[in-house]
Amino acid sequence: MQAIDSDALMQVTKRPPQVFVSGSGSWLYDQNGTRYLDFVQGWATNCLGHAPPELAQVLGRQAQQLINCSPAFFNEPAARLAGLIAAHSCFDRVFFCNSGAEANEGAIKLARKWGERHRAGAFEIITFERAFHGRTLATMSASGKPQWNSLFEPKVAGFPKAAFGDLDAVARLVNPRTVAVMLEPVQGEAGVIPASREFMQGLRALTTEHGLLLIVDEIQTGMGRCGKLFAYEHAAIEPDIMTLGKGLGGGVPLAALAAREAVCCFEPGDQGGTFNGSPLMTAVGCAVMQALLTPGFLAAVARKGLVLRLGLERLAAKHGLGEVRGEGLLLALDLGSALGPLLVERALARGLLLNAPQPHLLRFMPALNVVDEELQLALALLDALLEEQRAR
Ligand code: PLP
Repeated sequence: MQAIDSDALMQVTKRPPQVFVSGSGSWLYDQNGTRYLDFVQGWATNCLGHAPPELAQVLGRQAQQLINCSPAFFNEPAARLAGLIAAHSCFDRVFFCNSGAEANEGAIKLARKWGERHRAGAFEIITFERAFHGRTLATMSASGKPQWNSLFEPKVAGFPKAAFGDLDAVARLVNPRTVAVMLEPVQGEAGVIPASREFMQGLRALTTEHGLLLIVDEIQTGMGRCGKLFAYEHAAIEPDIMTLGKGLGGGVPLAALAAREAVCCFEPGDQGGTFNGSPLMTAVGCAVMQALLTPGFLAAVARKGLVLRLGLERLAAKHGLGEVRGEGLLLALDLGSALGPLLVERALARGLLLNAPQPHLLRFMPALNVVDEELQLALALLDALLEEQRAR
């Protein structure tokens, strides 16, 4: 394999030698023309697969018309996308930014501002053990990743942690300094652990009872990934704040902070960012929304999620593995042992891209428009890998 000179890249992760040069739908191609069935999809950003023609067209058209006019001016695609999100959610206003972490920073700032205004300076946000909210200092502090406990100290204060799923533990942490509870409807990086409907409803009732905000981090779960436009809909609740990222831009850097009118208390100068809400990125977001809102699209995601789930359950039974978890097309197969990284490596060698956010499991995040044949091919490749592993 022809290597590239990557010496000037800062080393922040171990990368395999492949250099990817193009992609189409569920397929990614390296510099030698070898193709890979991609069930990682840019860490679940490419909701419409690689290089979808409808996004390429919008990008090209918008780039020729207007790329950025500064966030201090209105632009039509940003207003249109905000309107689409508001019209299809329980939120009224949207702030656009460039990454999930930045959206969560915005949510934290908005909650703190609201606490200053309405709860006598309350600022604590109850978050969860093993949560993942991003890699800025505040979002690392809000996260509960054990490996980060002593990294980049001191942490940002004000994020007491409860065990995920334990409503009593959350209630015990509520005090006069508390302003909000923040969670992922499905904890993705922790190992695809869904919050139960009862837990989500319990959190909504508890936060309402104490006059607190409920913040859902839908950066991984939102934009159709879980078979509904937003995962909070599965629990039939209405949160106060939601953050979006990943799929919102279909692969381009676009994220959002959405909030109910009563919570929107930023004043001029409180929040902003040079690239935020650019027409180039928000035009792509509009095209993504349009695709997801096409009649039947989300129902197809739910159906394909079921197909993949049943296939994984069959493999789990056949090879004596653990449970299959998740919602829609965000699924994980618990391997019962720390085989994840090894299987990811072997899958790559066989032309299947998978990801192991924890050593004992594999995560599946195919494009939302993946077709049944691709699901069956991924299952067959995985079956062969597991068979080979058993034979060793
Ligand atoms: N929140 C959740 C639930 C995520 O899964 C991620 C990324 O994986 C983030 C926040 C951070 O998003 P970004 O990497 O775009 O900053």
